[in-house]
Amino acid sequence: MTTPPIHRVVIAGGGTAGWMAAAAIARTMGRTVAVTLVESEAIGTVGVGESTIPPIVTFNRLLGINEAEFMRETQATFKLGILFDNWKDRGDTYFHSFGTTGKDHWSAGFQHFWLHGLTRGHHQPFDDYCLELRAALQGKFAHLPDGRMNYAYQLDSGLYARFLRKMAEADGTTRIEGRIAQVELNGESGDIAALTLDSGARIEGDLFLDCTGFRALLIEQALHAGFDDWTHFLPCDSAIAVQTESARPALPYTRAIAHDAGWQWRIPLQHRTGNGIVYCSRYLDHDAALERLLGTVEGPTLTEPNRIRFVTGARRQQWHRNCVAIGLSGGFMEPLESTSIHLIQRAILRLLRMFPSAGISPRDVAEFNEQQHTDMLQIRDFLILHYKATNRRDSAFWRQCASMPVPDSLAHKIALFRETGRVFRKNDELFAENSWVQVMLGQGIVPESYHPIATKMRDDELVRLLCGLRDTTNATVDALPDHAAYVAHYCSTA
Ligand code: FAD
Repeated sequence: MTTPPIHRVVIAGGGTAGWMAAAAIARTMGRTVAVTLVESEAIGTVGVGESTIPPIVTFNRLLGINEAEFMRETQATFKLGILFDNWKDRGDTYFHSFGTTGKDHWSAGFQHFWLHGLTRGHHQPFDDYCLELRAALQGKFAHLPDGRMNYAYQLDSGLYARFLRKMAEADGTTRIEGRIAQVELNGESGDIAALTLDSGARIEGDLFLDCTGFRALLIEQALHAGFDDWTHFLPCDSAIAVQTESARPALPYTRAIAHDAGWQWRIPLQHRTGNGIVYCSRYLDHDAALERLLGTVEGPTLTEPNRIRFVTGARRQQWHRNCVAIGLSGGFMEPLESTSIHLIQRAILRLLRMFPSAGISPRDVAEFNEQQHTDMLQIRDFLILHYKATNRRDSAFWRQCASMPVPDSLAHKIALFRETGRVFRKNDELFAENSWVQVMLGQGIVPESYHPIATKMRDDELVRLLCGLRDTTNATVDALPDHAAYVAHYCSTA
């Protein structure tokens, strides 16, 4: 059974999620549906969410956004990956880059050849064969032909929402300012009929997008879609964010620095740096976390510290009745791999692919929910890996992480890599083989064997392969311009 046709889309909330949804729907469906967005300046947005991953480049392109203009307007920098400090051991670092490392054979990833190289006396780090990684650590960047440099952005989320708002309004979205006081349900169907504002205004719609952030005003408070709590796998439950002046030219990567009860982020933008601490309140209290954060930021602070409490987990049904939860209302996992904005993008593109113009079909709803859930479970596994695979036992927090049971899917992935060096990407998973390999090696998981195809190479062939790849990577990186200078020049071309 389907609902009546969808002519009016109402978006509740104007954070990153709300305006990304409005911009995308108005641009693609604007001729067939009316889009209205309600937001409350008095309530405001969560005010964080600055580090992204490469699919956002595609999202912006789909919307026809001029990249240089977008970067100028959002004070964005390029991002080539994340530098992880203190995760495997205190004092240890590794890099998860957006690139590929070396060159894969159809039967085996590059790590197998690299592992064979180690046994033949070639001890160069795995990192030496990845262009994005080498460029990041040298603070360099350029657009290369054929998309050979895979990148994302570090951006000011408030400015991004403003940028998208301008686009969405130009494409016909109606913005209404005000606090939603009540979500009115249809007595017969149980669907949402309208939102009532403090002012008394009533906004009717056919399809409602809940972009109200952690409040989940529509999907949970009104429709009770349910929530799965994943705190037992990812125990951090608090964060404090603060913005500082830039202490140095912006680097093309985000930092995730582990401490004894969680980790800190550092995100360099053009005009400032975003900083924050994520922690588990069982092991670190707010005052101590704040002191640690303020004691380690590099420049003078520009904002008051922003305290955020969260529960890691997912809404059981992200699409329920005539309401789709997009953004924090749909669930949250800590920003360790910068995946939240990506999940917003996935939900929007998925909704557009299944857009229920003729009415909502339960099959579409079931399909949407299953796909969203799969995305979140895969990302969850990847995040847990960072905590579980560690040598750290120096605090109660790390001892808890190291000893906690993990999902079977992750336990299998770790065991398979440890035994064989293999990783398989399933179901259109976000993180590809190279991401898993970089993080598993970085967290200290060393494969006990590797694919026999690597041993088929003669020593001189292996040397040619490894040295050739490294020399090409080095030569390309040497020729790249400085990242901050490149960004400044690029933005001036908009
Ligand atoms: P919000 O920004 O909270 O927006 C909610 C909107 O709803 C606001 O406009 C508000 O005014 C409106 N609203 C709420 N109630 C009402 C009401 N009653 N009436 C009217 N309007 C209402 N993601 C990343 O991808 N990368 C990161 O680096 C990253 N870092 C993060 C760090 C932390 C500590 C946290 C908590 C999150 C982080 N995220 C990150 C996630 C990211 O911030 C969010 O996914 C993103 O900002 C989207 O938020 P949102 O739009 O869902 O919610």
